[in-house]
Amino acid sequence: MALLPIRIFGDPILRERAAEVTGFDVALRRLADDMLATMRAARGAGLAANQVGVLKRLFTWEVADERHGAYANPEVLEVSEEIQEGEEGCLSFPGLFYPTIRPLRARLRVRDVTGDEHEIEGEGLLARIFLHEIDHLNGVLFIDHLARHDRKEAMRRIRAGELEHPPPPEERPARAPDSPAA
Ligand SMILES: [Zn+2]
Repeated sequence: MALLPIRIFGDPILRERAAEVTGFDVALRRLADDMLATMRAARGAGLAANQVGVLKRLFTWEVADERHGAYANPEVLEVSEEIQEGEEGCLSFPGLFYPTIRPLRARLRVRDVTGDEHEIEGEGLLARIFLHEIDHLNGVLFIDHLARHDRKEAMRRIRAGELEHPPPPEERPARAPDSPAA
């Protein structure tokens, strides 16, 4: 398994739409394994393929109770009207966390790395991660969801160079389990 470099905000690939996965082969499984390892090393809860420079509709995720997975070609079937508020971060914005409103529940259709189709439902943190990663695959970033003043502050911090000199993962403040970087 290899750790892949994570693309940081400013890299144009983060604004591109990723393409459908068509080959459910050894190369895809290797990419998923590498992404899972990369995500864990960075202490993230989710990682989309664009974030490691690959324009394929694939993301990995993991939550505290050791549930994890890799999903390809996710489609949102339904989201709840009920929302959740909470801090959210992104591995492409190391060290930045802001309150981000998301639906409380999301139901998806996905394929696993062997190509089998599944319908899954996430609530709370899982819904937040799934929707954050699907946004990535469409070139959408969490700062796009922020309240105006938070977005302004985030952009000011980015311009000041905070993303170029983030603290290493092990020195970042411990986040509440519902504040994922993904
Ligand atoms: Zn992200």
